[in-house]
Amino acid sequence: MGLKKKSVPMREQPPEVRKHNFLEVPLGYNKEEAILEAQRCLQCPTHPCIDGCPVHINIPRFIKAIKEDDLQKAIDIIHESNLLPAITGRVCPQEDQCQAVCVMGNVGDPVSIGRLERYVADWELEKRKKGEVSLPPKMPPKNKKVAIIGSGPAGLSCAADLAKMGYDVTIFEGFHKTGGVLTYGIPEFRLPKWIVEEEKKFFEQLGVKFQTDVLIGRTLTIKDLFNEKFEAVFIGVGAGLPRFMHIPGENLDNIYSANEFLTRVNLMKAYKFPEYDTPIKVGKRVAVIGGGNVAMDAARTALRLGAEHVYLIYRRSRKEMPAREEEIEHAEQEGIEFMLLTNPIRYIGDENGFVKQAECIKMKLGEEDASGRRRPIPIEGSEFKLDIDQVIVAIGTTPNPIVPKTTEGLKTGRHGTIWVDENLQTSVKGVFAGGDIVTGAATVITAMGAGRKAAASIDKYLKGEL
Ligand code: FAD
Ligand code: SF4
Ligand code: SF4
Repeated sequence: MGLKKKSVPMREQPPEVRKHNFLEVPLGYNKEEAILEAQRCLQCPTHPCIDGCPVHINIPRFIKAIKEDDLQKAIDIIHESNLLPAITGRVCPQEDQCQAVCVMGNVGDPVSIGRLERYVADWELEKRKKGEVSLPPKMPPKNKKVAIIGSGPAGLSCAADLAKMGYDVTIFEGFHKTGGVLTYGIPEFRLPKWIVEEEKKFFEQLGVKFQTDVLIGRTLTIKDLFNEKFEAVFIGVGAGLPRFMHIPGENLDNIYSANEFLTRVNLMKAYKFPEYDTPIKVGKRVAVIGGGNVAMDAARTALRLGAEHVYLIYRRSRKEMPAREEEIEHAEQEGIEFMLLTNPIRYIGDENGFVKQAECIKMKLGEEDASGRRRPIPIEGSEFKLDIDQVIVAIGTTPNPIVPKTTEGLKTGRHGTIWVDENLQTSVKGVFAGGDIVTGAATVITAMGAGRKAAASIDKYLKGEL
């Protein structure tokens, strides 16, 4: 059999259909497609793909099991390193991680590792729906309590590993729902929420306890947790505080942060208003500012809510957009109007204080900046006005200071991130941290990797080895 250079494509909802619904866009591989794609893997002895994955899944072994149609074996291999494969298989930036170093990439398309991971995970989710749950092995109880703050991917991964080691783990979550950005940020059409709910049940079956509506720093402090006989604490509170550009007019009505906009839609199900309580303003001409995954998600969500024009305004070129290529392509196919090398400089309101125009300026690219990308420079005299009735600002987030501010001795670093040593231990004894709160906004899989690393450190700490 000759080497197949092209990967097996994944079926998708057509753009004209999907832009009117919140259903998932890619439809997943069927058995035949998955086996064909698995056959493209060369089972390289050096397997660079494993090092490309931040949680080091044994990729060739699980792909071999797919080829042999032994999906139980495939999921067991994945679960050794990753308990959220239905999520990572969908949202990991695979093209920059495991697939970026896949040897097949030298001769054609890299093996579609993420899609194969999703295929196996979806098979397992279907089994779970029928009540067939195969839990990973667990050690006997250690009778030691560990508190996890935040139920995003960092907190969940840390909790799962500690529960498997026999610790008594409780996750404290400020919102009424668990999952962090997986629940309130990434939209339904990229990550269906029933999957995040299913994963929560799986974690509960592993023994992890959840306490929602508990905001650490308000309802309880870290000191209170130690007083309640928790012997170690992991902080995985993410970096959810929106950033704004601080330009004139930014406080006009109908200017949202992407965080608020997406939280209203995803967490409060505003797209189902009035069936659900939370309304959302639906603009007809929406400007989304930014070029990352968050901007793509906000733009595509606005389109699905009924916007007639969604302008994605980004100050650099397409090549420099930080969003995943797949998301950029999906946005283009759906009709998002990209205004590249453009930046808003002020917003103009109507007599009632609602935004009605964005004044923008054209940009050109200059020398490389500290990020290795060419610096955008405004072109004098190129200002123009764009009629809009809603703005969604998606230019990044920073950590919320509530935990550092209420925890004596907790050292912070750049932009309010929490300082940790190489073991993810903070400056406070028994307190560890990981995920976006340490790195600043990053990815699901890096947060999961940090959660797992912290779990190993907490285990050592509680055994007196750290
Ligand atoms: P979070 O997921 O932010 O979870 C933190 C949790 O802590 C939240 O539930 C929060 O409510 C809770 N919390 C905060 N403060 C407190 C407190 N004081 N007490 C109790 N609980 C608290 N990454 C990808 O890899 N691929 C993508 O496609 C992708 N798309 C994204 C799209 C959007 C819209 C956004 C916003 C992010 C996206 N990311 C993506 C980034 C990724 O989701 C994050 O890097 C990741 O979720 C970080 O995980 P975390 O566990 O550190 O934090
Ligand atoms: Fe690749 Fe992400 Fe899966 Fe790791 S978790 S193998 S990086 S898709
Ligand atoms: Fe297979 Fe690619 Fe990994 Fe080689 S590098 S083992 S081809 S997935």
